[in-house]
Amino acid sequence: MKAPDPPTARIVLLDDDPFMLKLLTHMLAQLGYTRVVACGSGPEALKQVRGTDEIVDLIFLDINMPGMDGVEFIRRLVECQYGGSVILVSGENSRILDSVEKLIEAHRLIALGCLQKPVKPDELASLMSTLKPNIGKRSVTRASLHSYGVEQFRAAISQGELVNHYQPKVALATGKVVGMECLVRWQHSVDGLIFPDQFLGLAEEHGLLTQVTGIVLVEAMKQAKAWDRAGYHLPVAVNISMDDLIALDFPDMAEALAASVGIDPQMLTLELTEGQVMRQLSTVLDVLSRLSLKRFRLSIDDFGTGHSSLAQLRDLPFDELKVDRGFVHGAATDGTRAALCSASLRMAHQLRMQVVGEGIEDQDDWNFLSQLGCDVGQGYFIARPMPAADVIDWMRIWGERTGVTRLLSA
Ligand code: C2E
Ligand code: MG
Ligand code: MG
Repeated sequence: MKAPDPPTARIVLLDDDPFMLKLLTHMLAQLGYTRVVACGSGPEALKQVRGTDEIVDLIFLDINMPGMDGVEFIRRLVECQYGGSVILVSGENSRILDSVEKLIEAHRLIALGCLQKPVKPDELASLMSTLKPNIGKRSVTRASLHSYGVEQFRAAISQGELVNHYQPKVALATGKVVGMECLVRWQHSVDGLIFPDQFLGLAEEHGLLTQVTGIVLVEAMKQAKAWDRAGYHLPVAVNISMDDLIALDFPDMAEALAASVGIDPQMLTLELTEGQVMRQLSTVLDVLSRLSLKRFRLSIDDFGTGHSSLAQLRDLPFDELKVDRGFVHGAATDGTRAALCSASLRMAHQLRMQVVGEGIEDQDDWNFLSQLGCDVGQGYFIARPMPAADVIDWMRIWGERTGVTRLLSA
């Protein structure tokens, strides 16, 4: 494909440093790129990307920003189905840049490359020579993408169209099933099954996330209870959002729900993404500590995509750490991913956390993680998320596949 003519490529710069914005604008102008918009914050840049009239071909992204950081910005880009390229700019060391670049690739965005600050003109010119035009929305294999209005989503909630699917977590050493992660879907009457990346952003924007969590949580607890009655001890994990955690009464609400359904809080793991926790550490500390005191299990999700330090992790009462799938799949043949997996594993084990490898997609991923001593695995190689009604059948098939006769630990 031909590179877009310099004057036509539309470029968005995102950096919280006004000097850096000026400098890059100037350097790009010298290369002939004049359709450049400088943005000082993530939300400002997202507005440019979301605008439908003009397509953005390239975003320069500073990964360390206050407020919405680079990692969160990338997730938002995925939600807007951005199909252009990204160049990472950072004063951080290159290992962090490498990890974020992997994250971009894991989200199937185009990572054109990284620029270390101070940016050198020749490095910039050489990256720009590889720029391809944004040919529009990225191709998606899931149900056709739509954008939904908030009223439609509210109606979906009241009509009970949010359903839980469940993805098994299995012990890598024994193949035993240790629990199920609950993943919400919207069962749309016309469009079929809609995945969370298409509606959680909307829910968040309109303050509906806590309502979603409430629905998912009750359903998950009832399901765990139903499985238990049928003789299957299957702990469940629910993803919770920052909006839940800043509500100081969340621990009491969760405790009351568990009591009304009749399940032990130990049967429930609450998963929180690393990015969320680290952004508002002091606020969440209170709620997390209380949840932990009430004996809910706590899990740190998508680990490797945020910027936690060992000290921060030590202060938080997590029982489990989930290594992000961007670092798991392909780790057997990729040095950076392998290093991240093994470092996270060692660190988490020292802090007595259980480690889950997310995104195990093939036998190589499975072998690599189990040889590394990772406790639990999750991913398409084991099973895709499925409706609750399919879980017992899947267990039988898994038993046949692995030869494990007693599939549950309790
Ligand atoms: P997550 O909690 O990290 O969940 C794992 C995601 O990876 C799921 O996507 C799952 O279907 C997908 N996945 C699992 N195994 C593999 C694999 O081997 N390869 C690949 N490529 N993907 C795999 P899903 O269901 O689309 O959910 C996306 C995210 O949405 C979740 O990431 C979680 O952060 C959020 N989410 C899901 N359900 C809820 C919910 O009820 N509440 C909240 N607040 N967030 C939710
Ligand atoms: Mg999760
Ligand atoms: Mg995850």
